[in-house]
Amino acid sequence: LVPIDLHIHSTASDGTDDPVALVEHAHAAGIDTIGLTDHDATGGWAAATAALRPGMTLVPGAELSCEYQPADGPAIPMHLLAYLFDPDEPRLRERMDSLCSARVGRAEQMVDRMEADGLPITWGDVRSVAAGGTVGRPHIARALVSAGVVDSVDAAFAGPINSRSPYYVGKPDIPVFEAIDLVRGAGGVCVFAHPLRRGRQVDDHGIVRMAAAGLRGIEVDHPDHDAAARIHLAAIAGDLGLITTGSSDYHGTNKRTRIGACTTDPDAFAALVDPVRGRLLVA
Ligand code: AMP
Ligand code: FE
Ligand code: FE
Ligand code: ZN
Repeated sequence: LVPIDLHIHSTASDGTDDPVALVEHAHAAGIDTIGLTDHDATGGWAAATAALRPGMTLVPGAELSCEYQPADGPAIPMHLLAYLFDPDEPRLRERMDSLCSARVGRAEQMVDRMEADGLPITWGDVRSVAAGGTVGRPHIARALVSAGVVDSVDAAFAGPINSRSPYYVGKPDIPVFEAIDLVRGAGGVCVFAHPLRRGRQVDDHGIVRMAAAGLRGIEVDHPDHDAAARIHLAAIAGDLGLITTGSSDYHGTNKRTRIGACTTDPDAFAALVDPVRGRLLVA
């Protein structure tokens, strides 16, 4: 068992375990180093830190909603894992807060479209599912399941909240090079999350450009990557001198993946956090 899982969501975004339950769950599963990476939010850090058991380490982080603009074609949405930054640094804080408020407006618009079409769902339902965390489509999905519109979260993602659905509304993302600058300016380190997840993907040239801009690692071992994707990404990381990480992207019962499903090598972890070890949170 290699007990380092660097990409985990709590109820501060679209996970279903609250930060305390998450730490307990990690501990029970034998994971002692956990990266808490809620979407565009740091609201789970304090409660998770307070819940740490002796010997456990919290790597405070966030998963930033970004986009990469290729030379031709529309911008590609992507996720950037940011770790060990100062959560009070004003420029990054302002940007994360505005991403969260834009997500609220966007989710409300999606619900308005559904209501206008006669679906039995209200903004109040979605807000109570989200319970104060960063609002995302998984919360709309659960409200649709409760309302009996679909049988499962997966069915919601395949249907009414799919990016091709007429109810879908996009959300603003941060241009990734700006995000890398913001995170570095706040003293943190960046890892490209699940670069080869299904959907439109950033090409290798994009990864080269991000490495030149200060990206420190790429998430190679991820439940959404098959063996070929992992081999490809490990080779790119080797060429560019990037650190490779592995993580579950655990979301509680919103997804099927178990905590610790993929993990990070201890030497890779040490190299990743080396410049900012002082910001690791321990019991
Ligand atoms: P949003 O950021 O609001 O557009 O919602 C995207 C989020 O939905 C991502 O963070 C994923 O973790 C999550 N997601 C995508 N597909 C599924 C699925 N089939 N089941 C559960 N969660 C999903
Ligand atoms: Fe998510
Ligand atoms: Fe992600
Ligand atoms: Zn994630």
